[in-house]
Amino acid sequence: MARIDKLVVVGVGLIGGSFALALKEAWAVGRVVGVGRSAGNLRRALDLKIIDAPGAFDAATFGDADLVLLSVPVGQMRQVMRSIAPVLGDKTVVTDAGSTKVDVVDLARRELRDSLPRFVPGHPIAGTEKSGAEAAFAGLYRGRRVVLTPLEGSRPGALSLVRAAWIACGAEVFELQPEEHDAVLAAVSHLPHLLAYALVDHVARHKDAKQLFAYAAGGFRDFTRIASSHPEMWRDICLANRKALIAELDRYEGELEHVRSMLELGDGKALEALFSGARDARNRWLKNGE
Ligand code: NAP
Repeated sequence: MARIDKLVVVGVGLIGGSFALALKEAWAVGRVVGVGRSAGNLRRALDLKIIDAPGAFDAATFGDADLVLLSVPVGQMRQVMRSIAPVLGDKTVVTDAGSTKVDVVDLARRELRDSLPRFVPGHPIAGTEKSGAEAAFAGLYRGRRVVLTPLEGSRPGALSLVRAAWIACGAEVFELQPEEHDAVLAAVSHLPHLLAYALVDHVARHKDAKQLFAYAAGGFRDFTRIASSHPEMWRDICLANRKALIAELDRYEGELEHVRSMLELGDGKALEALFSGARDARNRWLKNGE
């Protein structure tokens, strides 16, 4: 791939920090500059050698950048795009890692102006429940999928640079339409996070919550791991993709009604058939390497 002489990461957390570390490990990047919100996180990113220098929303930081990754919560994208639009270089390629794509693409169309043809929307399907620079690691994207949702007018050179960068991180790159991406992710990522948060909230509000938590074990821990994720990030994702998420929630409520009626009828045969089908589907998914 064409070497990225200067990468600017806006939001040096789990996703942006891991992108920088993976590119450094692959010798695919020269200098990494980080732009952030709190000074503490940027200082940590510098200490951990994720970034080589802190930057700001100015021409000195963005004017000569080859690639800019926006890896802030999707609720921050408007403000960030508005701040970088006037200072981006005329060759700078911009991409993002936001978990929702319809809203990010809409914002880019409104905010990025002349740089829009050099914007390539993206979403790495990889993560953990941890956040901040401290959580970043070089191997996060190895063997994982990255979805790009290029715009009609995207410059081929911009698309190939972003594609090559993700491949250098060890990822496999796919393309989807933004609407298609958001509908798929609503079902397999956004709904599970909503359910995990709701289940923990449900138990925490119980009048015997202390006792319930005392007896909660592996099943509760596995089901709710993702409820330890960053609340701001998930608030933004759920709001940005609420139409698709509500549609999935409605379908899931139908599924719960279905299971509930099996319980009411004491229909063990139907319950076991559902559990077997679900177990087989999950095992097939695991066997196929997720
Ligand atoms: P994270 O670890 O919390 O990192 C986000 C970083 O953005 C934080 O360091 C935060 O700074 C910084 N930030 C917030 N607002 C900012 C602003 N206005 N200007 C500059 N920096 C700002 O979150 P993440 O998990 O890396 O997620 C980043 C993006 O990737 C989100 O859009 C998310 O939807 C997407 N994503 C996440 C996952 C996942 O599993 N975590 C997977 C795929 C995609 P402070 O630390 O100072 O608050």
